Amino acid sequence: MKRPIILHPDPRLKKTADAVSDLSDELRRLADDMLETMYDAPGIGLAAPQVGVLTRLIVLDCVKEEGEAHRPLIMFNPEVLASSDELNTYEEGCLSIPEQFADVTRPAEVEVRWIDRDGKERIEGMDGLWATCVQHEIDHLDGKLFIDYLKPLKRQLITRKMQKLKRERARA
Ligand SMILES: [Zn+2]
Repeated sequence: MKRPIILHPDPRLKKTADAVSDLSDELRRLADDMLETMYDAPGIGLAAPQVGVLTRLIVLDCVKEEGEAHRPLIMFNPEVLASSDELNTYEEGCLSIPEQFADVTRPAEVEVRWIDRDGKERIEGMDGLWATCVQHEIDHLDGKLFIDYLKPLKRQLITRKMQKLKRERARA
């Protein structure tokens, strides 16, 4: 079942999400809903606070090549264990900030630990778009958005555009 995505600015996007202690069927259903919502958007990552749930859960699938098999990842309690000194700059966007994009620089490679859908602990190194995406999504769990990396003026400009968009959508 698709869930509505919360748009910036919204206080729920600024909060720190709680760790998952027990993996319930309800949380698995939430993860499946989030994947469906993400693919439908379409997007390559989604964090639980973006659908109004303050739980440390993210989903991602950064396979963008046409015809290549999907690789959906469900990550409970994801955390970055190590980051490379080497940096990478990507033009990022966010499903909570539609149609706005900006360059963000982050570590090029990260080692990430998480609990998967079956409750198993996994550790994996990620690079390229996957590394950017997983860091962007983990930031959401700490109430941080990609625009927080931008200069204040650029951030305010995007926030004003989003306020306008939300007003227009509320009227529609
Ligand atoms: Zn985002």
